[in-house]
Amino acid sequence: MTLLSETTLTQDSETFFANELKEGNEHAKKRVSFHTLGCRLNQSETDVLARSFEKQGYRVVPETESADVCVINTCTVTEHSDAKNRQAIRTLHRLNPKALIAVVGCYAQINPEAIADIEGVRLVVGSEEKMRITNYLEQAHSASVPLIIRPKITKKTFTAPVVPHSSVFLAKNPRKQKKVLERDWLSANSVPRQNTRASLKIQDGCDFMCSFCIIPFARGRSRYREFSNLQEEATMLVKEGVREIVITGVNVGTYKTGKRTLVEVVDFLNTLPGLSRIRISSIEPTTVPEILFQYMKDEQHKLVPFFHLPLQSGSDSILQKMKRRYSADEYAEEIWKAYETVPDLSLGTDVMVGFPGESESEFESTLNLLEKLPLTYFHVFQFSARKGTPAFQMNEKLPPQIKQKRSEILRILSTKKRHLFHQRFLGQTRKVLWESRKQDGFFSGYTDNYIRVVLDENDETDYRNQLFPVELNSLRGQTMLGKIKI
Ligand code: SF4
Repeated sequence: MTLLSETTLTQDSETFFANELKEGNEHAKKRVSFHTLGCRLNQSETDVLARSFEKQGYRVVPETESADVCVINTCTVTEHSDAKNRQAIRTLHRLNPKALIAVVGCYAQINPEAIADIEGVRLVVGSEEKMRITNYLEQAHSASVPLIIRPKITKKTFTAPVVPHSSVFLAKNPRKQKKVLERDWLSANSVPRQNTRASLKIQDGCDFMCSFCIIPFARGRSRYREFSNLQEEATMLVKEGVREIVITGVNVGTYKTGKRTLVEVVDFLNTLPGLSRIRISSIEPTTVPEILFQYMKDEQHKLVPFFHLPLQSGSDSILQKMKRRYSADEYAEEIWKAYETVPDLSLGTDVMVGFPGESESEFESTLNLLEKLPLTYFHVFQFSARKGTPAFQMNEKLPPQIKQKRSEILRILSTKKRHLFHQRFLGQTRKVLWESRKQDGFFSGYTDNYIRVVLDENDETDYRNQLFPVELNSLRGQTMLGKIKI
């Protein structure tokens, strides 16, 4: 299939695709596929982008099918992410040699020229314009060289398009979906989402300027979504059947529009009939409004007992070099306060090993703190020097073997902690929101405090998007097995 014909190039793309949609011919629709790397925020932005394409008459297809446009939403937090972006771009071009390859997101913001040099790339859009990518397709198609769109990132309050999404996000052919999952280059993030849990982006960028972090450059400084616009999207999501909303952003605790803060966002979501759960994806330790502890404690409140509070290091000297805004003791105090206030709370964290100059004893401080704290799991990252950040210039970079060894130690501890957390709930009954049937036919879902549960019997019932009390009766790896109790 050709991309855009000569005649369509002279038309406004929105009008053209809207007309094409009216004709109601599914097969005549342009097709677009998406590949997302990186964080939950990127995934939620891909969801919105996909809906914008649909609104313009495109059909969203899995990456295994041929498409007219392939959008790759990139990440750049580590060197490894950069390599994965490049690999995904090359693979998608190989699979879809005629498609317009459009690359958006953080890597596109930081290194657009490197992307434009990759064979097949026709359009590169940085962070400021990425949600308006459809405006540039025609221009990219007719341009003789790859088109780079990368204006300065503004600090303005933003809105996001509120567009209903359709079933195209669901796998139409389970066998094909399995094939997709088996591809080693494809991240789990590329799996289309179902209607159970949806992210609600309320904020973007960051002003904290931690010395290792590229995000303030890749996504710009902190800015907030208009309150009425996020209210509109949340209301629509719930109407579409979403039962759990995950509040998402880079630094959500700093949300502020007028007098409204994160608390007002939670208060609003709590009033939405039909919504069962509110979750906050990740929040900086110094920004947590204490009232959230009370909300989580209250069984009638929809805010679930879950916090993800990035620690990064348990050593004060390293925290200072990282320009984090707390000491190890202050972090510990916050964790203990949350743990003692909210029953059954799940507490996750991010931790970084191998920051420049991290000595054995500084690493030990991190290890000891993590051992002592009532944390459920950690995401462990190895320091990766990002050009443009202060840490890039720092001496005493650690060899990869040391970073590898330290991350292994912490990952083992994380697995042990998660196991102990799950053990606490053996024999108890908790509500599970069922999300999907796994490849082996068994249903899986999550408790409010983020225990992944797999149903220990395989019946034909479709439990998707239903909330049932479940007896948690055994442990299996990082999940628990349970039996529905009705
Ligand atoms: S708080 Fe620090 S680590 Fe987190 S996004 Fe902002 S600068 Fe990066």
